[in-house]
Amino acid sequence: MPSCSDCRVGIVPVARVQDLHVHSELSYCAEKGLAPEFYAGKISSCTNGAPELVCITDHSMAAYFPEDIAWKWEFISDSSIFDAWRDSGNEKLAKHIALLKSLSGRGVSAGIETEMMDDGRLCFDPAFADKLDIVIGSVHFLPPVPHEEIFGSWLSHTMRLMNSGIDILGHPFRWIAAKIEIGEDTVSSVVAEAKRCGVALELNSHYRHPREDIMMLRACAEAGAKVTIASDSHRKEEFGDYSYHMDIMEKAGYSLPGYGLVKTAIRH
Ligand SMILES: [Zn+2]
Ligand SMILES: [Zn+2]
Repeated sequence: MPSCSDCRVGIVPVARVQDLHVHSELSYCAEKGLAPEFYAGKISSCTNGAPELVCITDHSMAAYFPEDIAWKWEFISDSSIFDAWRDSGNEKLAKHIALLKSLSGRGVSAGIETEMMDDGRLCFDPAFADKLDIVIGSVHFLPPVPHEEIFGSWLSHTMRLMNSGIDILGHPFRWIAAKIEIGEDTVSSVVAEAKRCGVALELNSHYRHPREDIMMLRACAEAGAKVTIASDSHRKEEFGDYSYHMDIMEKAGYSLPGYGLVKTAIRH
């Protein structure tokens, strides 16, 4: 790993970040041509605040489904859709993981961002679990329910998701915060469950929810729960900018020594 005394975030020199959530062109929503090699190159050249390590966590739904199935909630409630696409998805995912592993000496880890289906299974073949350094579980959509049931449906899904074998809960409050204003009690109960089951919570800058993120950091510090840094990069220019994370940490009451709060959740 190169030394990097020039790595800076804003005006503050920092210990180099471990960015545990970025996408490559395997994900339909990522910039075309955004190859895993891009991240390896940035890390080895140590430019523009490049982190010391990156985990490439493409959407499992992109490995398993064509685009018109991937970004819909139906496979969450009907997991037979996953079973129908499992074999072709396994082939695609195996090739992708092999590519990521070939970059492991260049600061790249192999991960995945996945959904939990209503039957409790994560949306990738468990045969890959041992080959992945990090599994991020996220909510991007849930089966529709009446408005008054949205909060309960999200909370119960999130609690189950944290007990499904994931390492990190991706953008923990993004989905619900876009629909309903949540309070500190909700944040605290999610953080307490994360702490109980050893799941890290993610400070994610792709879509920004400073109110919820500040509450989350404070609750994590109080509970001793793990936090990870995520640019959730979908485009090249997003990678290497950790100014949001530093700003939120400062607003939550952490000066740089508090940066020790941020720990990697890498398995091995
Ligand atoms: Zn996501
Ligand atoms: Zn993502």
